[in-house]
Amino acid sequence: MGETETVEASFLDLIESRRDELIALTQDLIRIPTLNPPGEAYLEICEYLADRLKKRRFEIEMIRAHETPGDSDRYPRWNMVARREGRSPGPCVHFNSHTDVVETGHEWTVDPFGGELRDGKIYGRGACDMKGGLAASIIAAEAFIDATPDFAGAIEISGTADEETGGYGGVAYLAEKGYFDPQRVQHVIIPEPLNKDRICLGHRGVWWAEIETRGHIAHGSMPFLGDCAVRHMGAVLQEFETSLYPALAQKHTAMPVVPDGARQSTMNINSVHGGQAEPEPDFTGFPSACVPDSCRMVVDRRYIIEENPEEVRREVADIVERVSAKRNNFSYEIKELWHVSPTMTDRNTAVVQSVSKSIEKVLSKSPDYVVSPGTYDQKHIDRIGRLKDCIAYGPGILDLAHQPDEYIGVDDMIDSAKVMALTLEELLGA
Ligand SMILES: [Zn+2]
Repeated sequence: MGETETVEASFLDLIESRRDELIALTQDLIRIPTLNPPGEAYLEICEYLADRLKKRRFEIEMIRAHETPGDSDRYPRWNMVARREGRSPGPCVHFNSHTDVVETGHEWTVDPFGGELRDGKIYGRGACDMKGGLAASIIAAEAFIDATPDFAGAIEISGTADEETGGYGGVAYLAEKGYFDPQRVQHVIIPEPLNKDRICLGHRGVWWAEIETRGHIAHGSMPFLGDCAVRHMGAVLQEFETSLYPALAQKHTAMPVVPDGARQSTMNINSVHGGQAEPEPDFTGFPSACVPDSCRMVVDRRYIIEENPEEVRREVADIVERVSAKRNNFSYEIKELWHVSPTMTDRNTAVVQSVSKSIEKVLSKSPDYVVSPGTYDQKHIDRIGRLKDCIAYGPGILDLAHQPDEYIGVDDMIDSAKVMALTLEELLGA
């Protein structure tokens, strides 16, 4: 048995022997109710993580994302970055986890913040998305440090705010402050719940826009004196059905997006609002007779790496323009709300190669490479940080995210922690 194998065996054994500690850590994290919105208990969870990591001689930075969306003295956007230097210079591997969780919703059969352990699964909001992944990365890093104290380079672990609401008070803020500068950090792993045998290389692009059609208000008994903005919008929707949706269905991608239905361009109609506002629930009167002079629709277009954003914008704009040409007095405005470029990390990068090798060692199978249908914090690391060596890899079943009775399997966390520790060995081993 060579020396490397001895080291590997020792930290893998350490991880196995720390099963109870991993369970307790995950439960503790679930019991801190970091609901977002509004952004509860960010300071509490950052302090919890800081206290733990200080014991392994991590240097701690607590960073509040001042004046980002949602930041206030009542709901401050706190982030924690912990860095542990090795004995000699070398690359830095960073594990980034978001600490926020979405609302619980109904239909839970357990306490969503109880962290109940039953049949090898820990239940709770955020168990899989992504406190289980955060706990696994901490156990992995600690075992690696304990078994390999003379490693080269550095390990960073961050707990960041607001991923579920766009990441502006979290990873985007840190990236703007230089925390994801490729001079400082070389490899990033985001332990989102993508399954322990899958490497997520990136995500599709996003284009959100609001389309407003305009008309003229008039008395509803004489609609011919007005101009109905809702009818104009109806014509736009009809044109989407007859020409846009069939076109999107033809745009297939070579990106390995999961699930299969997302392996093409898609567009969701997020909302349509026209005419009088919805009355308050306790209002008992009737509507007044008016022709609506405005109708707004929000569209959520997800696009593939083979498309370019200009093409995506033009496709919708051309349709609306075509409808407008056929209708009298049709005026409209298209306002872009949000745009994120698609991203896909090269399979030959060091982080992908190392995680891939580690998955083969732990699970005796080669990994599946996937791309996420929606975005996550990789977008900020890629676009603001300009750091390309970034993937999502972590335990848990993606479909359980945001669902009632969300859980994380303890065995899956153990296996993922082993993969993460082997990856550290691969990238930072002496
Ligand atoms: Zn998540």
